[in-house]
Amino acid sequence: MHLTILGSGTNMHPRRAAAGYLLETDRPIVLDMGPRTLPNLLKTGLDRHTVQHLIFTHYHADHFSDFFTFFFDGICHSLYGGARGPLHIYGPPGTTHLFGTLLATIPSFSSAPFPVKFREVHRRPFRIGPTQITPLPMAHTESQICLGYRVTFQGKTAAFSGDAMPSSNLVKLCRGADLAVLDCSFSSRSPGACHMHAEQCGKVAHEAGISTLVLSHFYLVADRSNVVRQAAKHFPGRILKAKDLMRLRV
Ligand SMILES: [Zn+2]
Ligand SMILES: [Zn+2]
Repeated sequence: MHLTILGSGTNMHPRRAAAGYLLETDRPIVLDMGPRTLPNLLKTGLDRHTVQHLIFTHYHADHFSDFFTFFFDGICHSLYGGARGPLHIYGPPGTTHLFGTLLATIPSFSSAPFPVKFREVHRRPFRIGPTQITPLPMAHTESQICLGYRVTFQGKTAAFSGDAMPSSNLVKLCRGADLAVLDCSFSSRSPGACHMHAEQCGKVAHEAGISTLVLSHFYLVADRSNVVRQAAKHFPGRILKAKDLMRLRV
């Protein structure tokens, strides 16, 4: 499979889009859709109307807000005669209520001329065609469930922490993965709440025995420090600092 980083920053990062990842297995799957990720999706050259599967880790706006533009764009495209298949949305418990409310409330959303299907996931693996996806709850904030996802296709596995602090579930999610994209919001020199810093990412990667660690979701404080060197104190494997539009083969 291929992974393209659509966003490696957070809310208001001046040079990076917020959280978003394009996975290409036998079809395109977008995981999170934070602000400024949609323009990056266009830059990949992929026809956005072919994206029929969206997976959300949680609904903080830095993982979610470009959905509005994506969905409205899909409606306009369909109304003017363009082809668009059903849209499948996967996310943690609360997903159906959240989207039910949004689609009923935002002008034109309830009359989307293509089917929209929701699926709440929590711990049980599910499939999108031949791609197997295992969600696991992460430790992020008390007020909502944030899911990490482990994605396996053709014998290769990529793990995505979403927003996460270190936990046994996170290690389990990443166990033996070929690649793991971890929340590296902070530098080890200035750690913060609800997210990991670079050394913690390195420790998780080491404990889980992954091959390639991709550090992502940078606040400016993390971006300005050498997060790769910090993570490398604990993880001897390959470490990449994510960049928007970086494309990796898993
Ligand atoms: Zn969050
Ligand atoms: Zn976030």
